[in-house]
Amino acid sequence: MAHGHMIPLVDMARQFARHGSKATIILTPGNATLFSKTIERDRELGLQINIRLIEINIRLIVFPSAEVGLPEGCENLSSTTSQEMSLKIHKAGELLQQPFEQLLEEDRPDCLVADVFIPWATDVATKVGIPRLAFHGTNAFSLCVHHVLHNQEPHKNIESNTESFIVPDLPDTIKLTKLQLLDPTRSRTESHFAKMVGKLMKAERTSYGIVINSFHELEPAYSEYYRKVVGRRAWYIGPVSLCNRDDEDKACRGNQTSIDEHECLTWLASKKPNSVLYVCFGSLSNFSTAQLREIAMGLEASGQQFIWVVRKEKTKEEWLPEGFEKQLEGRGLIIWGWAPQVLILDHEAIGGFMTHCGWNSVLEGLTAGVPLITWPLFAEQFSNEKLATDILNVGVAVGAQEWCQWPDDTKIYVKREDIEKAAAQLMVGEEAEEMRSRAHAQGDTAKKAVAKGGSSYSDLSALIEEMKLNCH
Ligand code: UDP
Repeated sequence: MAHGHMIPLVDMARQFARHGSKATIILTPGNATLFSKTIERDRELGLQINIRLIEINIRLIVFPSAEVGLPEGCENLSSTTSQEMSLKIHKAGELLQQPFEQLLEEDRPDCLVADVFIPWATDVATKVGIPRLAFHGTNAFSLCVHHVLHNQEPHKNIESNTESFIVPDLPDTIKLTKLQLLDPTRSRTESHFAKMVGKLMKAERTSYGIVINSFHELEPAYSEYYRKVVGRRAWYIGPVSLCNRDDEDKACRGNQTSIDEHECLTWLASKKPNSVLYVCFGSLSNFSTAQLREIAMGLEASGQQFIWVVRKEKTKEEWLPEGFEKQLEGRGLIIWGWAPQVLILDHEAIGGFMTHCGWNSVLEGLTAGVPLITWPLFAEQFSNEKLATDILNVGVAVGAQEWCQWPDDTKIYVKREDIEKAAAQLMVGEEAEEMRSRAHAQGDTAKKAVAKGGSSYSDLSALIEEMKLNCH
């Protein structure tokens, strides 16, 4: 239950519906409010165009906040403020099996697509007698990297946390350090999180196959590797964000925005093409007070125009230099809270995207043809960075060195000079233009992939046909 998983899953359900299937989304009430407008719009669309009825329903399950000790209404990782709280969200998820099973018994679907973070989904699907497809939220490349790290442990005999090692046997030379690995992979502790990663991998192994929000042409060597070496079936059906066709669809995607969509578009319309850097670190990032101040100073020093999305985890008085917003008025726009990300990225004024490398963000950036400044924080973001910088050549690394979800409040992880340097490198000059044109090419290919006859369109059609055969 996190935006980075629910947003693409809901878009995926909408893609299934556009291919003629009936899709039912199962959500808890607090999370359902995030998507009700989107689903309502899709229903209207189906009736208006009258070609094919888009049938999507939302079914609700009560969230067991009290049972796990969470405040009422806290049903999503983005509302947690500590590691303990986020573990409780996972714990609550484990308690949903029985009501979920009941819904499946009532609805009798032909197939279940469930996130890998729902550990009991395969058991429930088996009981009801239907196939379970797993959704990871990431790309084939990172799944392959994780597979090698888990099976071969190339980092095992490396003493230093900062010495780089090669992840062996992959189609490209990929180097990482121990400090950049997913915490449990590195420390091999028996923490709750480590156990969860174990369950997650089991979900992948025991499912019918996996659906990936990516497209073949983006990572052909790794879709091949995943099939042949990892040995799992996968369908590449993304970028699913492309099911959001107009500005309103894009503006209401995943949450209530903290800025009026028209105000945002008016601001962007006053800028030249490719002249604005969009800075956003997803729905879960936590920065230290010192780091937030450092970002502000780096952006100011870069001289670039920017939109910066700041999660409301701290009050601005704690860290924002006095007069910052006033001083940079016109040049920099801060969005406090939730931004209409896809709407912004798709605007021609955006010339670069500083991202934490959450997979949705990377893919949404590329789909819009925007090159990246990569600043991975946690999850599999360090391997996503490698895909963007070393393989696709569409990104500049800001120089983040350390996997960290809950930062030390006084620590600076990336210095202002590095932020300033990366911003200049990505926004101006020949190298920037080359990266931008490679990102553009990826964006064009992405759009072709989901259009009729494209690779993702065909993969989704093939999957649906296979599911139909299974039912007979
Ligand atoms: N997002 C958004 N507005 C925001 C922050 C995030 O629309 O202000 C969306 C973004 O477009 C993406 C998702 O939330 O679809 C975040 O997923 P990602 O995998 O990039 O990162 P996570 O939040 O899971 O770390």
